[in-house]
Amino acid sequence: MPKRSITKADVRGKRALVRVDFNVPLRDGEVVDDTRIRAALPTIQYLLDQGAAVVLATHLGRPKGKADPAYSVAPVARRLSELLGQRVAMAPVVAGPEAERAATALNPGDVLMLENMRFEPGEEANDADLAADLARLGDLFINDAFGAAHRAHASTAGVAKLLPAYAGLLLQREETVLSRLLTDPEQPFVAVLGGAKVSDKFAVLEHLLGRVDALLLGGGMANTMLLAQGHEIGSSLAEPELVKDARRLVESARERGVLMLVPTDVIIAQSLDSTQAKIATVEAIAPDEAIFDIGPETVGRFCQQIAGARTVFWNGPMGVFEQKPFANGTLGVARCVADARAYSVVGGGDSLAAVDAAGVSRRIDHVSTGGGASLEYLEGRVLPGIAALPDA
Ligand code: ADP
Ligand code: MG
Repeated sequence: MPKRSITKADVRGKRALVRVDFNVPLRDGEVVDDTRIRAALPTIQYLLDQGAAVVLATHLGRPKGKADPAYSVAPVARRLSELLGQRVAMAPVVAGPEAERAATALNPGDVLMLENMRFEPGEEANDADLAADLARLGDLFINDAFGAAHRAHASTAGVAKLLPAYAGLLLQREETVLSRLLTDPEQPFVAVLGGAKVSDKFAVLEHLLGRVDALLLGGGMANTMLLAQGHEIGSSLAEPELVKDARRLVESARERGVLMLVPTDVIIAQSLDSTQAKIATVEAIAPDEAIFDIGPETVGRFCQQIAGARTVFWNGPMGVFEQKPFANGTLGVARCVADARAYSVVGGGDSLAAVDAAGVSRRIDHVSTGGGASLEYLEGRVLPGIAALPDA
């Protein structure tokens, strides 16, 4: 169900409290990757153009409910100011009288950034008093923090119940794209899943199984699938306790007529720092060897499916792509996804880094800003940050 849009709000002369997800990587007090800041610019700019004053709330890292200068959002405010080409004032507090004074002093077109929401223990506890304090900072609330929508926190779910609340442009786009994958994907729909552990992705696999035409499995999680098929996988990362569930998944795919592909060849080595990486079939792995990537034949088989798809969803690297000898599988799949005529969606923190490393992010139709949030959405779960907003 679509949520009430920011475009339906009368914002002129009002103060808009906007929850964004500016949880960006910092190094030496500078923003290293501003993708998430850029993704929220359309909503912020829209509000400013419409004559609103904007009060921004975000979390950053895990300061665990205490003010910690290492997690101050000041560098984020500076970067935002550069991107907007205007001053962004900083409130050195999350909420309370000092924040209220700063918010009340704003004129239409002004931007104020509140300090890291997670400096207050009430944020993650979804504390009613903190939500009420936040509600005093705006005339209306806009949630554009898709990446934080799977958390019921004071600044996502709590405050949404206390002010007229609307979905921001980014949150709407994420929800439109991801809901389409679950309800009405153009077929063939191919999902490519990888990453370290099958336990992280099991719920997604199960939920997608009823919707996809093919599932292509790589990365560490495919090792458990190989184990389930009776292969010897040496010292590869795997979760033997999930072999039973893996078999059930394979059976369920067969019953539904879903093509499930696992690697037939892999890149193996004795350890991650070994310079002796080699290609092997999945039948030929010694006890002291481990799988760190999918092999070229597997990349070819996966790419054939991707090339024939109309919709592709990809989450999770195909190997330990952070290290060059084990990056080819992930980079190869990234290129195929970018080259495909399919509508392509990529989600997951490491997966985004992988499409960046392959230099193809701009040829992906939708790069989701929500790692955990996009996975939970595709598990069919209700995200509390979205649920708290009124329906359209
Ligand atoms: P995402 O953040 O895109 O959801 P994950 O966090 O689930 O992805 O998984 C990414 C991690 O999985 C990467 O750090 C990568 O090194 C690791 N990984 C992928 N394949 C393997 C493998 N065969 N063995 C060990 N780790 C792997
Ligand atoms: Mg990750």
